[in-house]
Parts: sequence; structure tokens; C-alpha cells
Amino acid sequence: MRIKTNDTVKVICGEDRGATGNVLRVVRAKQKVVVEGVNRVYKHVRRSQKNPQGGRLSREMPISVSNVLLVCGACGAGTRVGMRSLPDGSKERYCKKCGAGNGQVSRPKARK
Ligand SMILES: [Zn+2]
Repeated sequence: MRIKTNDTVKVICGEDRGATGNVLRVVRAKQKVVVEGVNRVYKHVRRSQKNPQGGRLSREMPISVSNVLLVCGACGAGTRVGMRSLPDGSKERYCKKCGAGNGQVSRPKARK
């Protein structure tokens, strides 16, 4: 999975197609992400001590990572993400459209 929390992603499928938002949460086991403002559902809650009013709460539900694209910080487009190794042994994600790096994935390896 090449999407991390706080990435900006673009939704390419489903009801919210075209929307962009921040990744709030990643559900690695299910290959899903929760994106701010995307796939909102109303959750009906009963009156309780925590929520004395009850009523409807708007919440984001997870969507599949295959339905989102990372938005590149350099070119601003929704893009597929590649991985490449750097000379110091670390790995980074990069934009397949413009080639700009999009954040380090692993730390540099100590040379032997
Ligand atoms: Zn780019």
C-alpha cells in the first residue's frame, strides 16, 4: 500500500469521484483508507450519556485504496506512485507523471 496518513488523494471511482481530501486513517489489513469528506454516511445514534442529544452524525467510511490516487505535491495531478531506491540506500515514493519524489519510505541503510 503506497498511501499514508495525511497524504492528499483524489477519488477516481464511485459516488465521490473527482473529490480530493486528506487521508485520515489507513486500514492496512483491508487495503482501505478513510478520506476526509469522502464516503460520508449518516450514523444514527440513540441518546446516551456521551451524546445526550442523539440524532445523526456524519462520518467518513473507509474506501478501497484502489479507488484513490495520490496527488503529487510537485505537479498537483492525481498520479500513480512508484518506488525507487536512492544512492544512500533509502527508498522513496515518486510521481510517475513528473518524477518528483513524494516522501521517503524507509531510512537510509548503514553501509558496511
Ligand atoms: Zn508529479
